[in-house]
Amino acid sequence: MALVLGVDPQWRSQPVWESLVQIAGCDPGLESVVHAYISGWGARVYYKQQVKSASVNRLKKIVEHSKYVVLYGVGSGFVNPTDGAPIIKTGGGSITYHNADGSASIYVDVDDAYGQHYLAPGHGGTVYDSLPTIVYHELAHAYYHIIGKNPPAYRDKEILARRDENEFRGQVGLDLLNVYDDNDPGYGIPTLGTLDFPSCKATTGFSWCNIATVALGSPVARQIVSFRRAKREFGRLTLGSAPLLEPMLNSYRLFSPLVAAEMQSDPMLRDAMLHYGVQSAVHLVQLVRRYIAIGPDAEALAAAVDREISQYLAELPDGLSMQLDSAADAAAAASDVLSTGDESKLSGMWHLPGDVFASVTSSMQATRADTAGPAWILAGIALFLRQAADRLGDVVATTARPRLESAIGDWLASVPLPDDAVLTDSVELDGELASLRETLFPHDSNRELFMRRIRARWPNVSVSLEALRPTQAGPTHAVVK
Ligand SMILES: [Zn+2]
Repeated sequence: MALVLGVDPQWRSQPVWESLVQIAGCDPGLESVVHAYISGWGARVYYKQQVKSASVNRLKKIVEHSKYVVLYGVGSGFVNPTDGAPIIKTGGGSITYHNADGSASIYVDVDDAYGQHYLAPGHGGTVYDSLPTIVYHELAHAYYHIIGKNPPAYRDKEILARRDENEFRGQVGLDLLNVYDDNDPGYGIPTLGTLDFPSCKATTGFSWCNIATVALGSPVARQIVSFRRAKREFGRLTLGSAPLLEPMLNSYRLFSPLVAAEMQSDPMLRDAMLHYGVQSAVHLVQLVRRYIAIGPDAEALAAAVDREISQYLAELPDGLSMQLDSAADAAAAASDVLSTGDESKLSGMWHLPGDVFASVTSSMQATRADTAGPAWILAGIALFLRQAADRLGDVVATTARPRLESAIGDWLASVPLPDDAVLTDSVELDGELASLRETLFPHDSNRELFMRRIRARWPNVSVSLEALRPTQAGPTHAVVK
């Protein structure tokens, strides 16, 4: 079922996509849809085959296989992270076989050896190894790997992949490889054939642009950066040896329906998902980072909140800002559904903007994944949307709601406690609490709430929670203000 292109900003996905189009002979049945995966964003390839050839048959088999083949476009300076081999020394292509799950990662140099042109041994001379032939060659290796038929010896693997590459070369009229010659002729101008790849012309019906506009627009790219940054800062925090925030930092996967197939045909839902779900989460994360960095300086905190809300509102299209209020209600209701399991609240939500959160919630429940983390994230998003809606309606002064600064702190301190935390090693726990104090809870009140929750959850815990005590009574190393 799965051929996926890495499309996070660090990958050069477009030339790889164009190579796949060539391998498919410009069959308009080739499509891809961007999804959020654990390792980042990926364009999953779908194929409704309309033309027939050896190369499209191969492509279809990989696309329909249950194991994953992931393709990454890289520059000529790339080094394979698994085996440390520079891609320029391995003919512009490199594959890593993952034995644990039977999947494979392929890296291909989209810069043609810094523009020097990769060469391969032909019959009585050298031939050009263009990007489509390199991609095809690596896909051949991947294919034998996922079907469990890769021969163990390197040489046998190469002969097999070169034979397949030749089948593709023959099909498009390129000079053939000498499959038994394993010498690397390096780079330059081939002595056989030309540097041209006989490209088919892409017809309408498919294009990379469809995908690019769905998921590679600047909002999503920036969203990934901001989540990555937060992951770096908070991802290592543990409580009782269990990761505390890491599961939640992957929360953008909640909104992967943003880019699922049906979203493509429903631009209104897609926009709502992007702005109410993804963008609000981005600004929430930003706000949390500022809240922590600023410490108990009320004025600076209020200014930071102000800035984040203004930025969010500035990006919100007019049509969507009118429904901000209902979106905030829907996010809160979705959070309730997930934490109580009471699905009756979902009933009124199946139209925009509630749809955004109803679809996330029902897919969470369908997968029976742990709901405490997503419920918490949705509560944070609800908080943020509510504040934005209030600002828009200019009701900040008259409302009795708590200020967002303190609400954010309380929300942060109500992070789900990990089920598998083990609070027995007092030395380790001391260290963990000190990190939490420094990184996540510099504010006294948040720390107190968090401590109360630990005590309520583990009433018999005998180890000291001293490191969480308010500043006055606390250890001397954490300086607040
Ligand atoms: Zn090879």
